[in-house]
Amino acid sequence: MEATIEVTGLRKRFGSTLALDGMSFIVQPGQVTGFVGPNGAGKSTTMRVILGLDAPDQGSALISGQPYPRLRRPLSHIGAMLDAAALQPGRTARNHLLWLAHSQGLSGRRVDEVIERAGLTSAARRKAGGFSLGMRQRLGIAAAMLGDPPVLMFDEPFNGMDPEGIVWMRGYLRYLAAEGRAVLVSSHLMSEMQDSADHLVVAGRGKVIADTSVAELIAAASGDRVTLRTGARPEAMTVLAHAGATVAATGRDTLAVTGLAAEQVVARLSESGVGFSEISAHRASLEEAYMELTRDAVEFRAQPAEEEVR
Ligand code: ADP
Repeated sequence: MEATIEVTGLRKRFGSTLALDGMSFIVQPGQVTGFVGPNGAGKSTTMRVILGLDAPDQGSALISGQPYPRLRRPLSHIGAMLDAAALQPGRTARNHLLWLAHSQGLSGRRVDEVIERAGLTSAARRKAGGFSLGMRQRLGIAAAMLGDPPVLMFDEPFNGMDPEGIVWMRGYLRYLAAEGRAVLVSSHLMSEMQDSADHLVVAGRGKVIADTSVAELIAAASGDRVTLRTGARPEAMTVLAHAGATVAATGRDTLAVTGLAAEQVVARLSESGVGFSEISAHRASLEEAYMELTRDAVEFRAQPAEEEVR
């Protein structure tokens, strides 16, 4: 059975709050899937349901084809970090991991391997209670790796990390996916997913509002907007308008072109012998694409002040 997480039609109500409203997606092996969306979108609840910590009112969550409670030796199927603060403060990092390993019949040697991979070697004999949040995240990730599981799931692992930690985390997530593992990582900040996620599941108000590759999302948000610098502005305008583009002069020798991809702009100008000195295609940032998508999914996004509106 391939390493996957398969979430189908999850619904979950807490009192008057509908936390999950038909959440469905699949996490594939060999890639990092970013699970993004504003706070309150239902990401943590989904992860808790996947681990059998919350019971859904409807729907199912399977790990490589099995519900969590049916997994024998679960740490060897899925490794998860949901709450980095959940550890015994008086215990050293290494003893925390040894205790977890022994509870699952795993060896002490494996503990030292995961300590090293999480970059915790120098801190391993310090008490976890004195760790920064970033160090606790590393410890949580080391714990998730104990059983060498093919499926991994981390809730907001970038929280509290310093810039060096963020770079390390991005590289580590990519490495885990390159080893063929299925990796699900949640974040309320899209910028953290830049350069680490291959695929994105965007959640809003308890359901999926986009399920797409990072490349497709950026392409869709960018549209075809090309800036062109040319000494032959009138000729270029004629040629491109003929090819179906909308062209506007934005400077003495610059044009803004929409409705035609950059490669087509180059091809049309070259065919017609119109010279140009510079061409650039607009690419939306992941953040812009995300803001566009989640605009209606945010309950309390701040309204601009009145004077800004006017
Ligand atoms: P996210 O992880 O995307 O920020 P959550 O899954 O934590 O979202 O929360 C989804 C919604 O469910 C929120 O409105 C939250 O307040 C509510 N919620 C989550 N857990 C509980 C709970 N145990 N009791 C009551 N409401 C909850």
